[in-house]
Amino acid sequence: MPANNNVGAFKASLHGELIQPNDAGYDEARKIYNGMIDKRPRMIAYCADVEDVQRAVRFGRENEMLTAIRGGGHNGGGLGLCDDGLVVDLSKMNDVAIDSEARTVRVGGGCTWNDVDTATHEHGLAVPAGTISTTGVAGLTLGGGVGHLTRKYGLTIDNLLAADLVLADGSTVTASAEDNEELYWAIRGGGGNFGVVTSFVFRAHPVHTNYAGPTLWELDQAAEVLSWYREFILKAPEELGGFFAFLVVPGPPFPEHLHGKAMCGVVWCYTGPMEKAEEVFKPIREFGPPAFEHVGPMPHPMMQSMFDVFYPPGLQWYWRADFVNEISDQAIAEHVRFGSDIPTGHSTMHMYPIDGAAHRISNSETPWAYRESNWAQVIVGVDPNPANKGKIIDWTKSYFDALHPHSAGGAYVNFMMDEGQERVKATYRDNYARLARIKKRYDPDNFFRVNQNIEPAG
Ligand SMILES: Cc1cc2nc3c(=O)[nH]c(=O)nc-3n(C[C@H](O)[C@H](O)[C@H](O)COP(=O)(O)OP(=O)(O)OC[C@H]3O[C@@H](n4cnc5c(N)ncnc54)[C@H](O)[C@@H]3O)c2cc1C
Repeated sequence: MPANNNVGAFKASLHGELIQPNDAGYDEARKIYNGMIDKRPRMIAYCADVEDVQRAVRFGRENEMLTAIRGGGHNGGGLGLCDDGLVVDLSKMNDVAIDSEARTVRVGGGCTWNDVDTATHEHGLAVPAGTISTTGVAGLTLGGGVGHLTRKYGLTIDNLLAADLVLADGSTVTASAEDNEELYWAIRGGGGNFGVVTSFVFRAHPVHTNYAGPTLWELDQAAEVLSWYREFILKAPEELGGFFAFLVVPGPPFPEHLHGKAMCGVVWCYTGPMEKAEEVFKPIREFGPPAFEHVGPMPHPMMQSMFDVFYPPGLQWYWRADFVNEISDQAIAEHVRFGSDIPTGHSTMHMYPIDGAAHRISNSETPWAYRESNWAQVIVGVDPNPANKGKIIDWTKSYFDALHPHSAGGAYVNFMMDEGQERVKATYRDNYARLARIKKRYDPDNFFRVNQNIEPAG
């Protein structure tokens, strides 16, 4: 790699800040959410505005630097960071502007979902997002976006109306249904392959207070719960979200007698009329007495941030994922086997329903190529202690190997680590060739390649 030219001039030209290995803040600046990732970039450009992003992209190109884009820094595989290259950090670009009449929200490319949820809530609105509020808007959106509101309002990409990007040549474009339609298609699931998104425009929905929270059952009921859940959730009103989980009960606010206990459960989020909530939850309560239930009216931002406290930044994370069409009896048996053997207190398995509104869009309308699947499944080994790295990796891999034969084939890109081209292709299926053509048009040299990479072709 050639020596960098004009670093001083680049640094002086930025409205934001440039951090290099000798700077005091370097070790803090190179931290990302997953403590297992330890990359050492040559420089991190904290961009203050679109011009800074353009300067950074041009500088990276001119100096032939491996260049990563960092939004919220939550990516499991650490794809917001790179070794010995340039990181274009968007975290200072975190403005949120709401048009409450049009029910649209313009969001800076470096926002976290907490920035968005807090701002939209004041207007009684919400954008479908994930289940943890510290996650970056950019990475989550560009990969798809699965969360509590998916069944009612679709994936996050199904609510993306437009985006402004800085392309690999440093120019700016808007992608929407009216402008650069191919690019607009590609960014709704194709990740950060096509440019740096400096702002997004989303459709928001009237969501203010949910009827929500977890229901937990004993592990020896797990097979029965899963057998009931697989039927129930797909027939439930779309206003009801509910992801199944194996987990170890953390501390307060959970009751003391459950602390440290491995259990299974469903985290519910009902967004329909409050007067109908009891009726919707009746069959859940009739299924059988849970060991614990904490379901009731809850403001949407509280729901979105409920798990933040249990998963602070810096833990060790190891991820494996699949799309799932049906949960067979054999799959349930494997789930129970591994769910009963959770290696550490933070490790977990989630099955997020992706039916309802997400099913009403075809596989070719966006790059998300598993619209017929009913769940996005993710197994995550998590622990604060690096000494337990081997243990969480072993459990995650073994669990994945046992379940993968019962899956649909590909996985949600945002739940994957760096797993190679075959896995990326399996995920985009027939849409990969179109993505590769669009990549060739907008980024022919594969400048943006620190991601679930689409290789330019066609
Ligand atoms: C605790 C936790 C909970 C999660 N829960 C959910 C969930 O409920 N639902 C869900 O869908 N996902 C969830 N995820 C996965 C999440 O969607 C991904 O980790 C996602 O990559 C995070 O986005 P980020 O901006 O924080 O990531 P980063 O690490 O900053 O970036 C991830 C990728 O996006 C690209 N990128 C980032 N910013 C930009 C930009 N401005 N322009 C272009 N490309 C960009 C990067 O190149 C990189 O490849 C969760 C992750 C964690 C760690």
